[in-house]
Amino acid sequence: MQSLKIAVFDGDGIGPEITEPTMKIVDQVASDAQVKLDFEVLPSGAGHYRDHGESLPESSVAKARGSDAILLSAMGLPDVRYPDGTEIVPQVELRMILGLYAGVRPVRLLPGQQSPLKIPEGKTLDFILVRESTEGLFAELDKGQVTENEARETMVITRAVSEKLFDFCFRLARQRKAKGYQGRVTCVDKANVFRAFAFMRNIFEERAALNPDITADAAYVDAMALWMVQKPWEFDVMVTENMFGDILSDLGAGLMGGLGMAPSADIGDGHAVFQPCHGTAPDIAGQGLANPLAMILSGAMMLEWLALEKEMPSLSEAAGRVETAVSRVLTERACITPDLGGKASTTDLARAVGAAL
Ligand code: ATP
Repeated sequence: MQSLKIAVFDGDGIGPEITEPTMKIVDQVASDAQVKLDFEVLPSGAGHYRDHGESLPESSVAKARGSDAILLSAMGLPDVRYPDGTEIVPQVELRMILGLYAGVRPVRLLPGQQSPLKIPEGKTLDFILVRESTEGLFAELDKGQVTENEARETMVITRAVSEKLFDFCFRLARQRKAKGYQGRVTCVDKANVFRAFAFMRNIFEERAALNPDITADAAYVDAMALWMVQKPWEFDVMVTENMFGDILSDLGAGLMGGLGMAPSADIGDGHAVFQPCHGTAPDIAGQGLANPLAMILSGAMMLEWLALEKEMPSLSEAAGRVETAVSRVLTERACITPDLGGKASTTDLARAVGAAL
């Protein structure tokens, strides 16, 4: 049996509650697919900073770098902060350290999954938002300048990262086209107002010209916020700057029934972190109320990525099994958490997914 090393950050708040069942489920399907996953839980997070004075120890970064994939829940606690008052966000630092430029946020309804939108007959909610995750308005993280009367933050868009990001999106659209999707990438920006976005749009058009088999178009971010509510079924792959992506991905999560349903992946060259879109939800931590599905579906995305990256097609089937099991539980609606309108606990819902496998 082949084995893979999985670095795990179980994080703060609801993090540990949703990580444990996710590891179990992912482990079960991988082992059925003849792949052994060696999980190692690594210290990090706001709780670790409070107790040990370090939020992301060097040794944890080194182990994450040496692993085949990284599974992360959520980190940060509102009352634990750095001396300058900023929040502890090792997950954002990790994206910078490992160069995870492509934040993949699928906005997709599985069978049985409910959306607050009324979806017309024959249409489906199934597009991917790619959020650049290392620069943009997050580039100078905690280097913003604040004086008594003025605050400044700098947005950085580089040619090198933009080219890699757009190439990633055209590859993704090509893989999707092979499965029957449109084969289209939409660049979401504000190129009519900001020079940085006009620069980004030009690079997008240059890369689009090198990928003539894929349709390329562009939209302004404000219009896209409207269209994501009015006609989200028209889109295939969207790509945008870090801050815009941060906001639009929460809108996407809303379309899928809430943050508890939204998985994600942050992908770079050879490294990738898989984590739910939500934060540590301190308001519900420790009460068994957390929906573990966003994390479980992030685990499925990890298996899908490993299947391609390590050329282990059996892991793609394993990922499909997880999605089918989640779908079954959602369709039956007998065992769902309060955020989805049910009464089940985190453990009950995770067990139901395990049983549906
Ligand atoms: P961050 O800034 O770290 O992304 P946030 O401020 O967006 O975090 P979250 O921690 O994601 O906040 O929580 C936002 C709301 O969604 C909270 O009311 C929280 O309880 C709820 N929520 C988040 N994740 C889940 C989940 N897995 N299950 C149920 N409710 C959740």
